[in-house]
Order: sequence, then C-alpha cells, then structure tokens
Amino acid sequence: MYRLTCVQCGRSYPPDEILYTCRSCGHLLFVEYDLDSLSIRREEWDRRPISVWRYRELLPVTIPPVTLKEGGTPLYPLERIGEEIGLPHLYAKHEGMNPTGSFKDRGMTVGVSMALQLNKSTVACASTGNTSASLAAYAAKAGIPAVVLLPAGKVALGKVAQALMHGANVISIRGNFDKALEMVQELCISHGLYLLNSINPFRLEGQKTIGFEVIDQLGCVPDRIVLPVGNAGNISAVHKGLGELHALGLIERYPMMTGIQAKGSSPVVRAIREGLPEVIPEGEPETVATAIRIGAPVNAEKALTAIRKTGGTAEWVTDDEILAMQRDLARKEGIGVEPASAASVAGVRKLALEGVIDPSERVVCVVTGHLLKDPETVIKQCKPPTEIDADVQSLLSTLRSC
Ligand SMILES: *Cc1c(COP(=O)(O)O)cnc(C)c1O
Ligand SMILES: [Zn+2]
Repeated sequence: MYRLTCVQCGRSYPPDEILYTCRSCGHLLFVEYDLDSLSIRREEWDRRPISVWRYRELLPVTIPPVTLKEGGTPLYPLERIGEEIGLPHLYAKHEGMNPTGSFKDRGMTVGVSMALQLNKSTVACASTGNTSASLAAYAAKAGIPAVVLLPAGKVALGKVAQALMHGANVISIRGNFDKALEMVQELCISHGLYLLNSINPFRLEGQKTIGFEVIDQLGCVPDRIVLPVGNAGNISAVHKGLGELHALGLIERYPMMTGIQAKGSSPVVRAIREGLPEVIPEGEPETVATAIRIGAPVNAEKALTAIRKTGGTAEWVTDDEILAMQRDLARKEGIGVEPASAASVAGVRKLALEGVIDPSERVVCVVTGHLLKDPETVIKQCKPPTEIDADVQSLLSTLRSC
C-alpha cells in the first residue's frame, strides 16, 4: 500500500486521487509506501530478468502493466575515457538502449499503466522531445490517445519523428518548454487529461529503477551517480529509490548524487553553488543539448535535497565540452548518445580535473538518450562521406590519400 505525500508539509492523499501538487501548500507529491508491509526478498529480485518490473513490489501498479520491455540497459566500463581523466572506475549506464531510446520509457511504462489503473482515457505531456516520443509509444501500446506539446523548432528530429509515427497528436507551440508545460498543466487540470510530465509522482517511480539496476549490475553501491539535469526529475527519482533501499536495509550508504547542466541552462548549479533555498528560474535557457534546455526545473526542490543530503554537487559544462564528449564516447568507447547524455560524462571530466572527484571513486554516469535521437547535431560535427566513382581504382586512391 502507498499514499501520495507532500514533500513540503507532509500532508498525504489516497493513492487513487488524481493530483499533481499538494492542495494545502502547492508543493510536489511523492509516492510513499508502507515499507513494513512489503515483502521484498533480494533473492526473489535476483531470479527475475533485470528490467523495471524486476522491482515491482516498489512500484504502484497493480494491474498488468503496459510494457515494451524497458530497463535492463547495459552498464559499460569507460576504460579509455576513464584512463584519460584519471578515473579507473568509471561507468556509463546506457539509457539510450530503452525501447524508444531514452530513460523516459521507465517512467512511461509506470505512468501509462497508472493512467489505465486510474481509469484515465487520454494522456498528455509537454516535452523537449523524448518524453513525447516515449508517451506516444506507450499510449499506442495501451490503445489510448496522447496529446503532446513541443517547443516549436527546438526538438531534435528523431524525437519528433517518433512522436508522429506512434500516432500522438503533436502540437508545436511558439514558446519554450517551460511555457509548453504551463499550458499542458492547465489543459490537464481543466479537461481531465492525465498529465505525464515529471511532476507526475508515478512516472518518477519507474525512473528510480535506474539506481536499483546500477547497484545490481555493479554488485555494490557506487560512490557517485552522475546525471544530466533538465527538469531534475530523474536525479530526484534515483535518489528517492535509493532512500527506499536504505530504509529496507538493502543498502548501507548513498552515492553522492551529482547533477550536470549546460552552461546556458543551469539554474540548479547556481542554487547549489550559492547555497540558495530554491532555484531562480532562467527565462531564456539555451544549449545544443535540447533535452536539458529547461529554465524552470519543476523538480528542483527534490533535486536540491538529493544533492545536498548525499554530499553530491552540481556543475555546468559548455556546449563545446558536451559535443567533445559526445564524440569521445562515440569514438573511444563505441557508445552513441545524444548531446544531453554526454553532459554527464563531460561534467565528470571537469570535476575530475578540478579534483572534486577522487581517483579512487566508483563513478556511474547515466547517459540518457541515444545518438540517433538528434542526427542533425551529429552530421554538423562530422565530415561528410567521401563520394567517389564506382570503381576500385578510385576507392584505392581515395584510401591512400586519407
Ligand atoms: C529528459 C531528459 C533529460 C533530463 O531529465 P530530467 O529528469 O528532466 O532532469 C536528460 N537527457 C535526456 C536525453 C532526456 O530525455
Ligand atoms: Zn503540502
């Protein structure tokens, strides 16, 4: 059993109430389980395939879930990059290997299942791209309509392609993501659509399984988990899940939760650096990493707690650093990610060089989305293919000259 509890005033609500923020104080809600009543056995989890649903006792879904077999993504050691930056125990959890190519699928398998469990017939979200791609696919699987709002001209090509192909009602607004979110929230509250942005407490339940899988794959708790931060839902979700494992006595310590933002869109970094009680929103966020181009992160409150409580930190990286790391991951490790994902590893490089991360640390970077999401940014960075006449002579002379 669980209830929905306010992060600020502690007021709680029954699990079937459709609510995104606290009625008393307006702050965010989280899913609070009665952990004593749960029977969780480690051996039982170990017997199940690694996926979001391995951890179903710690998820709110009681109906057969809407699933495309999400989670169970690979954890790769970053041997070459780790050696270069002096971190011999550096790993990347490749969330681009989920069904629609980003970690959003973990949230949507739970979120869309909850929509059905709560008898909602239409789902909606605002999105920088991946949320819409994922929601579109899971709504298709569930057989219900999805409405998605995108900031016009600011969504990577692959993500729009997915949302359209999976049959969502895709609407581009002439405004940024923060504005789109404001609009969709209003629409959902006034017209009864089910909102699946990361203010939805159930979506974050799915995303917390990233942390569970990291511990299962590594066989221990890493010293640090590093995530790119946009709306700050994912870093909050992972921390929340670890809190549950801790309360259940399954882990003894927390990793230092570390958030990386793009320099042009870094309100969380600023709040951490300056010790602010809350973030100051940025009106005109700008970065090549469109998935984290967010000026007013809705989960900032939870994220600041996660970072501060675990002794973690937040850091920004420039667009150039992001793109350089996207190329390094691709060329030195064979790992293809979109720009926002490379931000986590670029941030680790910066923190390692600054001496903030100790060489002895076991560090896991979450790389959040797949290379193919944003082919335009890739093509711009690469030399075009060499075109030659269709004969072996031309082929040999081209190969000799490069
Ligand atoms: C959504 C997303 C993020 C940001 O996650 P938040 O939970 O909004 O902080 C980062 N990278 C990618 C690829 C994403 O799709
Ligand atoms: Zn409250």
